[in-house]
Amino acid sequence: MMSEVVVAIDGPSGSGKSSVSKGVAAEFDLDYLDTGAMYRAITWFMLTAGVDLAEPEAIAALADRPTLVSGMNPSEPTISVDGTDVSEAIRSTSVTGAVSAVSAVPAVRERLVTLQRAAVTQAAKAGRGIVVEGRDIGSVVLPQADPKVYLTADPQVRAQRRAAENQASARGTQDVAATEESLRNRDAADSSRKASPLQLAVDAHVVDATELTLPQTIAAVSDLVANVIGSNPADLQSP
Ligand code: C5P
Repeated sequence: MMSEVVVAIDGPSGSGKSSVSKGVAAEFDLDYLDTGAMYRAITWFMLTAGVDLAEPEAIAALADRPTLVSGMNPSEPTISVDGTDVSEAIRSTSVTGAVSAVSAVPAVRERLVTLQRAAVTQAAKAGRGIVVEGRDIGSVVLPQADPKVYLTADPQVRAQRRAAENQASARGTQDVAATEESLRNRDAADSSRKASPLQLAVDAHVVDATELTLPQTIAAVSDLVANVIGSNPADLQSP
């Protein structure tokens, strides 16, 4: 049933998950949930509250505290913490540098996974399908998702694209070598943590975007979605 399709898009940092997920959601008129933004938002909350991030117990003690609200429109995704819109603030280098430590804390993951599943239920109740992007969506959060996509690309290519994005948006570093180091560090931390590491779900389709442009990658993932819902975006747009 097309309206309740649940698409999981996982992959390492800088693989293009956000651009691809938004593109696919827009094409099929689906909701969009950026779970990385949720981990960034709770990290922003911890930093703002002055929590010592070297103390997992201190992070866990505040994991249930903030109210997080995700806007699920793919053309204008938003996220707020206790009513403050932090959509921009969560992209700062301080949040990027701290998010892997916060997201490794099991109490944080429990809290956010509950919110993520609730968002999908809310979309389904409204008769809407959803694209959910992250690291553990197909493997842990939504094992029922179909299709499951694991989006990847060579580290150098991911670093080049992320640095160019940073330049276009005038935030974060534009230095390719520094970006590559930051991506590799996050990949290593996200893949080696105990709680829900980044991993390939057994039934995920691997899409390697190293040699693909963004429109080509969106088309590749859209084909997988179309196979599941039994139609393609062109059909959906006709009256
Ligand atoms: O996708 P993005 O780079 O914004 O994610 C930021 C961080 O959030 C990741 O490096 C990872 O530590 C964490 N994350 C996670 N599980 C998810 C999504 C993101 O642990 N499902």
